[in-house]
Amino acid sequence: MTRRNSYDVVVVGAGPNGLSAAIEMARHGYSVVVLEAEDTIGGGARSAELTLPGFVHDLGSAIHPMGLASPFFRSLPLEEHGLEWIQPDAPLAHPLDSGSAAILHRSIEDTAAALGPDTAAYQKLMEPIVSDWDRISPLVQGPLRPPRHPIALSHFGMQAIRSARSLARGWFKGERARALFAGNAAHSFLALDQRPSASFGLVLQSLGHVVGWPIPKGGSQKIADALASCLRSLGGEIVTGARVGSIEQLPPARVALFDVTPRQLLEIAGHVLPSGYARKLKRYRYGPGVFKLDYALDGPIPWKAEECALAGTVHLGGTLDEISAGERAVADGKHPERPFVLLAQQSLFDPTRAPEGKHTVWAYCHVPNGSTFDMTERIEAQIERFAPGFRDRILARSVSSPQDLERQNANLIGGDINGGLMDLWQLFTRPTPRLVPYAVPVKGLYICSSSTPPGGAVHGLCGYFAARAALRYLARGS
Ligand SMILES: Cc1cc2nc3c(=O)[nH]c(=O)nc-3n(C[C@H](O)[C@H](O)[C@H](O)COP(=O)(O)OP(=O)(O)OC[C@H]3O[C@@H](n4cnc5c(N)ncnc54)[C@H](O)[C@@H]3O)c2cc1C
Repeated sequence: MTRRNSYDVVVVGAGPNGLSAAIEMARHGYSVVVLEAEDTIGGGARSAELTLPGFVHDLGSAIHPMGLASPFFRSLPLEEHGLEWIQPDAPLAHPLDSGSAAILHRSIEDTAAALGPDTAAYQKLMEPIVSDWDRISPLVQGPLRPPRHPIALSHFGMQAIRSARSLARGWFKGERARALFAGNAAHSFLALDQRPSASFGLVLQSLGHVVGWPIPKGGSQKIADALASCLRSLGGEIVTGARVGSIEQLPPARVALFDVTPRQLLEIAGHVLPSGYARKLKRYRYGPGVFKLDYALDGPIPWKAEECALAGTVHLGGTLDEISAGERAVADGKHPERPFVLLAQQSLFDPTRAPEGKHTVWAYCHVPNGSTFDMTERIEAQIERFAPGFRDRILARSVSSPQDLERQNANLIGGDINGGLMDLWQLFTRPTPRLVPYAVPVKGLYICSSSTPPGGAVHGLCGYFAARAALRYLARGS
């Protein structure tokens, strides 16, 4: 139950974007309540003992380059509210069948030095982007706007717009650099022959050099908890166990911000939306889902390439061609025999995640949206391929299918963790093409989830930009 009868602002959903929207409104002096369907806050940034007592697993996000780079998070005193970032020795490892691994280090030089024939090419590709990051970041961390620094953007823009395969084959001769780039680009959930899959590879690789790929001490729940604590310090209120089924359920408020995806917005508010807008929301496209495994282990993963133990994240999928084939299969509605697996080994760097000497592992692969196929065997075969003996260390495992994920968080439609497909069109025009994409064409209504620019990941920027739009509306006094 809410403490008051009415508020200036009501936010539906306590994910990172809902909480960020609430903070931005509260720090401008407005009274705010957040209504969260689940019993715990955080949406895609939650942690729990999924396997055994004492093993803390991340239910959703694990690795947070976008969080540390977020200008909005940086404007908040999140450390004072309990958030502590840990930087693994290296952001990323990408093992190959040769028994060695390509490593994304914080330094461009160290990364490039181990890329054999591609040392110079890697530096030539990455150095201009990393050194111009502050000018490039508004393009990738906000809604589409005319660029203020078109020259700085030209190198990045021309490469980012490409498919990952065309960039990797155009720039690199050797398998190591190609494979490293392919793994990063595969975070796009696009086929690697599809544009702009290269942009994800470039952004994630750049962030590895600019801010690192950190993990929050104690689990990603700590990000949500710090945001919630920050909100409460500004007078905001959060009510959990409060699923909103219809807009009529909301307490009276001047503004409502929805941290939900288009399908849910239609369910909650479809009857008050203009029919043209509702039709566009119905056409909104969701992307592939994920099939996720969490493990409690008796010891660290026995990597064949020992350098994999330096990294918080490990990409398992082998060569550019293999990863491309796997991601193409998913885009075509199939389940790859050898899936590309994203794996995080947080407990190597954060001892609070597991009892002494024991470890946690977080891993997932992409599957067609809504898939019911069990990928456990195929994911484990990929881990064993690069870490023989892995299975012998398993104490317990938790399996989450796309349906399980959607049950935990209604925003994960069919297991889509990005709030909708991020292809060239929908990356910038999410949820529909509008000058202010956050504004729903009904007075005082806004959408603030990752179904708006800049899209998926824990950065709070969708919430922040939606709140800025709502603040302009309130300032106009209408
Ligand atoms: C398995 C997985 C792995 C991921 N890995 C990473 C990663 O490593 N790094 C990274 O940066 N990002 C990662 N992400 C993505 C990231 O978690 C999301 O992009 C981010 O959480 C989106 O934030 P949001 O606030 O838009 O939505 P969400 O975090 O999904 O929050 C939405 C909230 O709204 C609530 N809600 C929904 N419907 C209603 C309703 N009707 N009434 C009330 N409340 C409602 C939900 O319960 C939820 O709490 C991952 C996500 C998943 C699931």
